[in-house]
Amino acid sequence: MKKCFGIDLGGTTVKMGLFEENGVVLEKWEIPTRTEENGKYILSDIAKAVLDKMAEKGLNGEDIVGAGIGIPGPVMPDGYVSACVNLGWRNVNPGKGLSDLLGGISVCVGNDANVAALGEQWQGGGKGHDSVAAVTLGTGLGCGIILDGKIVSGSRGVAGELGHVTVNRDETEKCNCGNRGCLEFYASATGIARLAKRHLAASDEASVLRGLEKITAKDVVDAAKAGDALADSVLEESMNWLAQGLSFVTLVVDPEVFVVGGGVSKAGDFLLDKLRRHYNHYTVMTATKPEIRVATLGNDAGIYGAARMVLNM
Ligand SMILES: [Zn+2]
Repeated sequence: MKKCFGIDLGGTTVKMGLFEENGVVLEKWEIPTRTEENGKYILSDIAKAVLDKMAEKGLNGEDIVGAGIGIPGPVMPDGYVSACVNLGWRNVNPGKGLSDLLGGISVCVGNDANVAALGEQWQGGGKGHDSVAAVTLGTGLGCGIILDGKIVSGSRGVAGELGHVTVNRDETEKCNCGNRGCLEFYASATGIARLAKRHLAASDEASVLRGLEKITAKDVVDAAKAGDALADSVLEESMNWLAQGLSFVTLVVDPEVFVVGGGVSKAGDFLLDKLRRHYNHYTVMTATKPEIRVATLGNDAGIYGAARMVLNM
């Protein structure tokens, strides 16, 4: 059986996987991301890691379908990355660059959130479905949309940027993007912590969160699970905003399944039941509702999706 490489390029490490064509991962490893000198060593380091692995396994070019790679920034339809702050890249064509370094092996490039969504659709929480929207709740709010087994990246590479959809026109504070009222501002891990501080400041209701020096999303989830009413109201508000965002996705592309990942998703059905309840209010036009499931691949979603991307070619 032929093999392929799935590569998830992050700002500090590059995760790599050697896969069989059927989706079985044979080996996983990591190398550091060298961002010095505008990231000029990144592609050659990756190429070396791929070639070393091929030599170690006795594989040659004919044994390899190709390599897929997820990039932490927007990728234009022509394959160029115009700016990637985390890597120091400006006007780089990583697909062509890596393919040249690998002696002409096919290389596919995608945005990391989209690629991770493809991984979840293929072998994770969305397995068995062709149309999946995967949302990641971490420091920010990432989203990738897969329709009929293919990544939807859009004409400018911003399709699925659900984190910066405006859900609250009345917001006064600015989001990192410069706009106000973005979904990410309320429904990311950072957003949940922010809402908790707001709820605490707006009332003198007793809450275990009042005793904490620094509040995290996990603190809010733990407190709510233990019966803290204020923490519970924070999660209700956050999931209400997220449900509104998911309803936009439904009414535009109508996925079969939503997959929710990232650190916050460890709260499981306790959190997702709130999300499902609010979601149902916003999508009265559809009699059946998409399933909202927890992501299952964790940090490996990126390498799975990258491998799938090149196998899909
Ligand atoms: Zn924003």
